[in-house]
Amino acid sequence: MKRCLIVDDSKVIRKVARHILETLQFQVEEAGDGREAMSRCEEDMPDVVLLDWNMPVMSGMEFLQLLRQSGHADQPKVVFCTTENDMAHIRAALDAGADEYVMKPFDRETLQVKLQLVGVA
Ligand SMILES: [Mg+2]
Repeated sequence: MKRCLIVDDSKVIRKVARHILETLQFQVEEAGDGREAMSRCEEDMPDVVLLDWNMPVMSGMEFLQLLRQSGHADQPKVVFCTTENDMAHIRAALDAGADEYVMKPFDRETLQVKLQLVGVA
């Protein structure tokens, strides 16, 4: 079973994403901000991270930069979640080390396609 860490400050979004991912046979963990996500990764690296951009304490971008610079060999795939249909914004996330992005709100089919694209589903 592949492990997915959902990182989002919205409890509702985490709940929706968890439901979708569980139907796709993922083992799911949750974090409410980038700092919490980083400590979870340091405990046990997931296979894939579903990552929100705007969060308090530590943003998705800060988390991503820290993760990619951490020197961990077992780097997870990262799928960025964004509400902004802005190519410069998406490009910045991909440049920082995201593997894919998905527009919010996403449905099961869209998320499954993105997870297949990064090779975890
Ligand atoms: Mg947010």
